[in-house]
Amino acid sequence: MQNLNLFSIKNKIYSDGSLDTSKNISFYKCFFICNNKLVFFKNKCFYILIKNINFLNIKKKDIYILGKVKNTLFIGASLSLKKIKEISDNRVHSLMSLRDSINITDQTQVSYLSALYFLQNWKKNHKFCSKCGSINKFDNIRNYLICINQSCLRKIFPKIDPTVIILIKNKDKILLARNKNWQYNLYSCIAGFCEPNESLEETVIRETYEEVGLKLKNINYLFSQFWPFANNLMVGFEATSITTKLKVNKLEIENAIWVTKKELLSLENQKKIILPKKYAIAHSLINYWYKN
Ligand SMILES: [Zn+2]
Repeated sequence: MQNLNLFSIKNKIYSDGSLDTSKNISFYKCFFICNNKLVFFKNKCFYILIKNINFLNIKKKDIYILGKVKNTLFIGASLSLKKIKEISDNRVHSLMSLRDSINITDQTQVSYLSALYFLQNWKKNHKFCSKCGSINKFDNIRNYLICINQSCLRKIFPKIDPTVIILIKNKDKILLARNKNWQYNLYSCIAGFCEPNESLEETVIRETYEEVGLKLKNINYLFSQFWPFANNLMVGFEATSITTKLKVNKLEIENAIWVTKKELLSLENQKKIILPKKYAIAHSLINYWYKN
């Protein structure tokens, strides 16, 4: 089963978390992030390849360990642009959002950059302990935050929200819907967050019924994708709708349509609908149906 899954790190071998060069690490490949934007140089993602991490003179708290491939440890650093220029002999840099960088960066890099983007955002948004209000300290070896108050020591682990996305089928058609807040003519699959005490399958049933009034059968898991922009783990399902009669929740959904493959192609060619971008799991789900 094919899924683009751009944000997964392929062939990743976890390091033991150590920055120590004696642990079979010959090189450090360091990417940079600044003010939530990735650092680029001449339209390419900027990184420094170095044998000894200490040469970069970056504080440990600013370093994120992203993964290890063969003997190279991939790391990221969240720094000011001034500091990045200082480290890189003042070469000219541009800053780019993760979303914009996807189209010009190779998949291995995007996957590491998305991890960096996610981790530094998570750290930035959890500066203080929610239990006692003290400062949280980042443990970049084990990737958690820990409260510095010795009588508290609350640990906070990265939080990822499970979200389902459903390819709803009926005979030779699938259902596409557009949220009223989306860009003009963008259509996609029904999706929604898991609520407390729900299984993924229960979320599939509830979200579909709430948004378009359909009851489902034959609910099957297909594939999943990490979505760094909103901290989601998108879990892709396919399901068959018992009927095709829609009851659209107008508070959320502007329009929902059933389409055959031929109709989908025609609507897309006429630019009457825009489908999700290639790197989105919705694109992979629709593509999976189209090619089977
Ligand atoms: Zn605390």
